[in-house]
Amino acid sequence: MRFELPITPPSRVTGLSGAGPTRGGGRELPVYYPATGAQISTLVEDDADAVALAVANARAAFDTGPWPALGTEKRMAVLEACRKAILENIDELARLECAATGLVLRELKSRHMVRAAYNFRFFAEFISQSAGQTYTQTENYVTTVTRRPVGVAALIAPWNAPVALATMKIAAALAFGNTCVLKPSEQTPLALARVVELLQAELPEGVLNLVNGRGPVTGAALVAHEGVDLVSFTGGTETGRTIMSAAGRNLTPTTMELGGKSANIIFASADQDRALDGALQGIFSNNGQQCLAGSRILVERSVFDDFTEEFAARAARIKVGDPLDDATELGPLASAPHMERVLSFAQIAREDGGSVLTGGTRRDDLGRGYFIAPTAVLATSNADRCAQQEIFGPFATILPFDGVEDAVRIANDTNFGLVSYIWSDHLPTVMQTQTQLRSGVVWVNTPMMRELRAPFGGFKSSGVGREGGAACEAFYTEEVTTTTPIHPVSLRRFGAE
Ligand code: NDP
Repeated sequence: MRFELPITPPSRVTGLSGAGPTRGGGRELPVYYPATGAQISTLVEDDADAVALAVANARAAFDTGPWPALGTEKRMAVLEACRKAILENIDELARLECAATGLVLRELKSRHMVRAAYNFRFFAEFISQSAGQTYTQTENYVTTVTRRPVGVAALIAPWNAPVALATMKIAAALAFGNTCVLKPSEQTPLALARVVELLQAELPEGVLNLVNGRGPVTGAALVAHEGVDLVSFTGGTETGRTIMSAAGRNLTPTTMELGGKSANIIFASADQDRALDGALQGIFSNNGQQCLAGSRILVERSVFDDFTEEFAARAARIKVGDPLDDATELGPLASAPHMERVLSFAQIAREDGGSVLTGGTRRDDLGRGYFIAPTAVLATSNADRCAQQEIFGPFATILPFDGVEDAVRIANDTNFGLVSYIWSDHLPTVMQTQTQLRSGVVWVNTPMMRELRAPFGGFKSSGVGREGGAACEAFYTEEVTTTTPIHPVSLRRFGAE
């Protein structure tokens, strides 16, 4: 099987080279095309000195540059230019993203890159409406609460949707007047390196900086740096713990968008065709590599057999293959170790007494790429490891339940709490379930409808803090309370006669 490369990427990718003195000389890391397993580029790692330089650039741009104090309309115009730059380069950016992630090109063009561009418009429009608060205290004083940018934001992005997720952070940090240092995942640096280059052309010097390299090296140096004022992280729960501890030593505020094991609850009262479509989309879109995936599918017992049979049949028919083919529904997983880990859960499920309904195997017929067959597993109970651990691939774990209380009990029986899905046309069932679920987001009769104005984030090990319009404003700004007398009010006169 031969798969064409989506694009010829640069042979070497560096971090700081776009934003300041070129360093290079760091450790060289391979970048692979997941559809073939072939090395397609080399990433030059930024070490702690390079990170310090990037933070110093961002610090100088914040302390002495024009960006933090720029008027709202001017800042909006720059954000709009950033949006245009992404839109004008969608094809190239989507191909670079495809080359490192293996995500289906059609999806990258029509969804990820469009969202990336929109992130800049969203925050431009948000700041156009931002207002402070004013309080009149008796008739003599006015107190205002205004917001100021915080400073240098460290932005750490994962590999599963690199541009779409990182631009949310970049656009928010910039819109509220901060400067930033971005660290993408070392596995997927290609498209973000180009995005940063495009954005830097629109921004004052030093406002946006890129460092590249492994998390425990480049990322760790960044989050521990004393010149960093904020850390915004999206990634795994264990990494989140490490980063929060390191940032805590400097009392640096963090937001943590972490993992999930979201319950997709399908009641007998649901439109079964729509619920089936939604459940398939919930676990198999984005190659199953999504924090918000509906990876635990809970089905009411009276419809369980029919639903499960149909789900497995549809999963088995999903078209797995070339990310460049418009007909492809599932591309390769992001890396070889990740593929091995996802596949290992088929064996783990069997060891725990469960059964594999479909998939659980590598698609060797597609060559050396990281392709696996879409997988559905019946668990024996919610305590099974495939029901408790985040697998982060095209791997659905299915369980039966009996009524609302049982559904809620199983749904909440997890360390995670990012998203829950409810499928039912019976309003009291929806409301009784919704009010008891412990997750930051609940989607009713729809998969994955993210509203950027609303907070997004998780309970428990799924995160700390929220992303979204007002939540980002709160995180990326400091509030300043200023009280001014309207009249010359009389003061206590210490020491006067
Ligand atoms: P990781 O936690 O492994 O990595 C995320 C980012 O953190 C990468 O850039 C990584 O760098 C970096 N990193 C790793 N170790 C450190 C460290 N010690 N200090 C600083 N940075 C570090 O997550 P994955 O990339 O594997 O992403 C998958 C995870 O992300 C899943 O658990 C998923 O649920 C979660 N996620 C959450 C989302 C949400 O909004 N809640 C959205 C998307 C994903 P490198 O890769 O180079 O090592």
